[in-house]
Amino acid sequence: MMSTFVEVVSRTALKERVEQLGAEISADLKGEVPVMVGVLHGSVVFLADLVRAMSIDLEVEFLSLTRFGHDGQIGIAMDIAEALEGRHVVLVEDIVDTGLTLASMRRLLEVRNPATIRTVTLLDKAPRRIVEVDLEYRGFEVGDEFLLGYGLDWKGHYRNVSSLWAVMDLEVLQADPLAFARHLGISPEV
Ligand code: 5GP
Repeated sequence: MMSTFVEVVSRTALKERVEQLGAEISADLKGEVPVMVGVLHGSVVFLADLVRAMSIDLEVEFLSLTRFGHDGQIGIAMDIAEALEGRHVVLVEDIVDTGLTLASMRRLLEVRNPATIRTVTLLDKAPRRIVEVDLEYRGFEVGDEFLLGYGLDWKGHYRNVSSLWAVMDLEVLQADPLAFARHLGISPEV
């Protein structure tokens, strides 16, 4: 019988790909001091590894979004502390799915007149895209399974799991959010 939880990208593969992305972005932005903008909370783990794989001077900022309903409308819950005028901005995302979040976020930041905006996403669910949106760098193209770990959560849990997992039957987690913790042997329950 197939397991509900399947590891899809190992720690080693994540590390290798993040290092490649860091080198690529550093080469493209050589001579600039980009503002790397982490979109909370999902991008935190990826961002921490990505910036350490970059060989140029940079700044780190964070942005937190609120969602209205299910049509991808967003607002800014916590804003970037830095003015972006004339800066090279790199938005750091965990996953781009329909593209609605990223498209709205780019619009919100474009009006602040940055020199450039680029996006790096660890994961790209390209076949599920509803709106076309520029995506300059992607770590992995993935299918439409629900993913967990390396920053991606289920009800706030599992962001600290160091590899990426697919959930083959989401009903299992819906019925019991700690089912994956038990699978990993990290649940406080005995
Ligand atoms: P979009 O607006 O592109 O549809 O949504 C992107 C957001 O949906 C991501 O930032 C993330 O919060 C959530 N999301 C999409 N797919 C997944 C997934 O497979 N796992 C998790 N944990 N979140 C996801």
